Amino acid sequence: MGSSKVTLNIDGKEVIAEKNSTILDAARKLEITIPSLCHNPDLVPFGGCRLCLVEVAGTSRPVASCAALVQEGMRVKSSTNYLERLRRTNVELLLSDHPNDCMLCERAGNCKLQELAYYYGIRENRFEGIRREYPEQDNNPFIRREMEKCIMCGQCVRICDEIQGVGAIDFAYKGLWTKVSPPFEKDLDCEFCGQCVAVCPTGALTGRMWASKGRQKFREVETVCPYCGCGCNITLAVKKNEIARVYSKKDTVNQGMLCVKGRFAYDFVHSQDRLTRPLIRINPAKDLYLHQENPYADSSSSAGFKPDPAQFREASWEEALDYTALRLKEIKDRHGPDVIGGLASARCTNEDNYLFQKFMRMAVGTNNVDHCARY
Ligand code: SF4
Ligand code: SF4
Ligand code: SF4
Repeated sequence: MGSSKVTLNIDGKEVIAEKNSTILDAARKLEITIPSLCHNPDLVPFGGCRLCLVEVAGTSRPVASCAALVQEGMRVKSSTNYLERLRRTNVELLLSDHPNDCMLCERAGNCKLQELAYYYGIRENRFEGIRREYPEQDNNPFIRREMEKCIMCGQCVRICDEIQGVGAIDFAYKGLWTKVSPPFEKDLDCEFCGQCVAVCPTGALTGRMWASKGRQKFREVETVCPYCGCGCNITLAVKKNEIARVYSKKDTVNQGMLCVKGRFAYDFVHSQDRLTRPLIRINPAKDLYLHQENPYADSSSSAGFKPDPAQFREASWEEALDYTALRLKEIKDRHGPDVIGGLASARCTNEDNYLFQKFMRMAVGTNNVDHCARY
């Protein structure tokens, strides 16, 4: 059996690489920076942006290093005047059909296209022509699409298909009019996991909730998504004590992937409707035994739960806990433990939920305990 490794030379340095790896992989082993806008190590190589071009001895044209496999004895140049001219031209071509919107763009400061324009010193553009203009679409509250900022890197299409397994978007049309779109130009109607937003290197895909919340210099708070037992690791990007956006890092148990809840459902944290003090019913006997309507019927609506001051009064935690213990004991003594049920919340920690079921079983004496995330 032959060796599974090959030795090649990049910019005068020898490197040993796996046989099935690419020239770009080998260059990164040597910490050589080769620019790319479409490469993503988790996705099938695309070779679309043509920025990672390298010269290979014995080959008449530059090759895309993200898609070309290494070979024994290969001699590669990652940067020459010719290659840098080609790369600069490719960035200029991308910018020739790009809105100059950096001042307002949510991605500015964290945009790979902006970074390359800065690196190559591109202020004026030699190329002029038709510019794409698209009306804003979608009325979902999560993802904003500004497709005139799309550079066709295909990362969103690939991650949606290869990793998320949804295939909600794909390339439509041809040539200059090629566009990433849901089928038949319909509004985006998918899982809204935001994986596409996370990989988009430009401001084409952003979170709607990011708008005007700040773009840089966030304080990062590492935490665990409160919604379900998967326990995905999330990073809260905080500015002025407010969550500006949520993302997840690659070196986490969920490898940077999140669902719609983890990535976008954080507005409850700063909601005006959020209860911050315990409330006690003013007339509990009436409410417990005689109330015909469900007083919480609106609590999950967007209007939120608005306590009626005629029915509730604020209490301290000590008073509320004493009162709860007293009422639970009264009800248990009168009707037995199985008339009591406990519903735990996904917004508590695992430890809180563990203690809650323990309390229901050991202190109250019932197995009537469940969790909102089970449905
Ligand atoms: S996508 Fe990047 S280059 Fe384009 S406007 Fe936004 S920040 Fe500027
Ligand atoms: S939000 Fe998720 S499901 Fe929807 S297009 Fe993006 S990656 Fe695909
Ligand atoms: S929307 Fe973003 S990720 Fe998708 S192809 Fe365009 S630039 Fe790439």
